[in-house]
Amino acid sequence: MIQLKSPQEIQRLQESADLVSNVMNRMLKMAKPGLPTIELDEMAEKTIRSYGARPAFKGYRGFPFSVCVSVNEQVVHGFPSRKPLKEGDVLSLDVGVIYQGYVGDCARTIGIGVVAAEADLLIRRSYYALQQACKATRIGNRLHDVSHTVESIAARYGYGVVRDFVGHGVGREMHEDPQVPNFGKPGTGPRLKTGLVIAIEPMFNLGTYEVETLDDKWTVVTKDRKISAHVEDMVAVLPEGPKILSSADGMILPPIEEMNSLAVSA
Ligand code: MG
Repeated sequence: MIQLKSPQEIQRLQESADLVSNVMNRMLKMAKPGLPTIELDEMAEKTIRSYGARPAFKGYRGFPFSVCVSVNEQVVHGFPSRKPLKEGDVLSLDVGVIYQGYVGDCARTIGIGVVAAEADLLIRRSYYALQQACKATRIGNRLHDVSHTVESIAARYGYGVVRDFVGHGVGREMHEDPQVPNFGKPGTGPRLKTGLVIAIEPMFNLGTYEVETLDDKWTVVTKDRKISAHVEDMVAVLPEGPKILSSADGMILPPIEEMNSLAVSA
């Protein structure tokens, strides 16, 4: 059942989103060639606890860390490790907090140093899809209009859009109704109403949309081992329009026309 949030609850979610954005921005600044990714996790957990919050992921269904660190062909739910980042890696970070009873959840993908052109485009376009999907999260639309926005941008560039993992409602629980798939038929799904708060999380693969889970029971990788990008923001439906609650650094994106011409030259 979808639980619509009161203005007071949205304010609490905003505070959790502010905290998780702060943690994400710190990690994005730290992520450099040579850094063991476990240090991102350690810093994130320390920062979260210093605010009197707790990591939402640690212990969630037994997940052992505070941050999901998914490098290159890893899609989501990767483990941080002692292995250092290297120039050209595609790094996806996903972090969650529970602050005064409310969840904050945010993901970003960045290139480490100089990355291959196709990787750079994949990252930019996944973030572009997230931004467009947030814009579509407004009264008058239905949920799958949001999903379709993500799917159609992936299709435009020939990317695989992951089907096995989805975005979600967010509130006191990390995963609330409704599920927010990254594909769907426009004009279908629940009507978007004031007070709906969802986490939208496009996952774009350079190759196939198919994924599999490694023996560690968590790390999701692309079946063809081509690279993947994952980004996530929390957005609230308000009468005046969508409000993006999380605000971690994205990237400066070229205008749409330029994005399209990038597709031709890619
Ligand atoms: Mg999420």
